Amino acid sequence: MRLYEYEAKKLFSQLKIPITSGEVAESKEQAKAFAEKLGKPVVLKAQILSGGRGKSGGVKFAQSPQDAEKKADELFSSKIKGFPIQKILVDEKLDIDKEFYLGITLDRVNYKIVILACPEGGVEIEEIARREPEKIKKISLDVDQKFFPFWGMSLAQWLGAKGENLKIVSNIVVSLFNLFKKYDAKLVEINPLILTKAGKYVAADARMSIDDDALFRHPELAEMGIEKRHEEGEMTEREKLAREWEIPYLDLDGDIGMFPGGAGFGIMGNDFIHYFGGKPANFMDSGGGPTPERLARMLILLDENPKVKAIFGARFGGISRCDDFAKGVVMFLKEHGLSKPMVLRMTGNMWEEGVRIFQEARKEHPEIFKNIEIHGIETPIEEIAKRAVELALLAKS
Ligand code: GDP
Ligand code: MN
Repeated sequence: MRLYEYEAKKLFSQLKIPITSGEVAESKEQAKAFAEKLGKPVVLKAQILSGGRGKSGGVKFAQSPQDAEKKADELFSSKIKGFPIQKILVDEKLDIDKEFYLGITLDRVNYKIVILACPEGGVEIEEIARREPEKIKKISLDVDQKFFPFWGMSLAQWLGAKGENLKIVSNIVVSLFNLFKKYDAKLVEINPLILTKAGKYVAADARMSIDDDALFRHPELAEMGIEKRHEEGEMTEREKLAREWEIPYLDLDGDIGMFPGGAGFGIMGNDFIHYFGGKPANFMDSGGGPTPERLARMLILLDENPKVKAIFGARFGGISRCDDFAKGVVMFLKEHGLSKPMVLRMTGNMWEEGVRIFQEARKEHPEIFKNIEIHGIETPIEEIAKRAVELALLAKS
């Protein structure tokens, strides 16, 4: 889980890594007020889960509170690297003498922890890594190895620190290492670590990513207001479960559960739902001839998703038969039940038999089928999609 800069800085300060303690604004008025309180030129930094803000307009400077308000307004109404901006870190603008790079990450190839330091930090670090890789000093250590203080000293030296500053920078390296260990991080990075004109070292940026699988070991993060979140590009819990079950499945951001099967019905159903003003909560594929167990799992993925308000089922019987499909679904309904309303249509191979199986089951157990509507080929697929959109709206009102 990637942390926002302001969250990572909270953890930095816990481990005594020097930061300037800015405040997080959620409106331009707040940004102005914070700048007023600081009483000096400020830097406004868009809080997004992406680096490279400096190069894409996500870091702005302001000389006065009015200026801060204006710049904050610009940031709030723009997108940086595709991310909308909800929070801005308002911080004292530092007078930079030098910028350094310091980072710790995992080397997944050799199963080592790597500490990296470069005397030229800042927004050009990738370029430096490419052109002058010899400028980056690396120390690799085994994951359970303890940190030897001389490593800190040697890295501090590499960064050009002298005299008293050797100890100061070395302590920052040690603290960063302890932070990495303490929170089961995959990455901690200070870029840039700044030496100010007044001769002070400050972490001007903070990047940190924590191993998702270790989050349960850190309930203290939630207490500090650092909530577990889903990151774009990473699988949701449901997607992981579906993968275990070998069901092709994607979470989407709507509220209509898609329970399709056969001959492109999944893709077509998606289009129809959008056409009628609804939004699918997922995309799913049943694969050919799903077993009752697989059908049950598909329905569980939908029924246990709190975002799903109604379920759209469209089954085309090709090689797999609608009567087998109906038997599987009925078995699930009897054993498990469905908490969401569902509208379901079957066509193709043995659809009449499928509908009959449902009707009989409904006669036997009307209570289980109360929120379920079954259709055959007589109802066009558009009607089914329209009804699903309607059911989702009803469930919300
Ligand atoms: P990133 O581009 O997303 O990594 O954002 P950073 O926080 O690293 O900011 C980008 C660049 O803005 C840094 O390399 C600095 O040169 C500059 N910067 C950031 N904070 C400050 C600050 O407080 N004072 C000054 N003068 N420059 C800053
Ligand atoms: Mn940075």
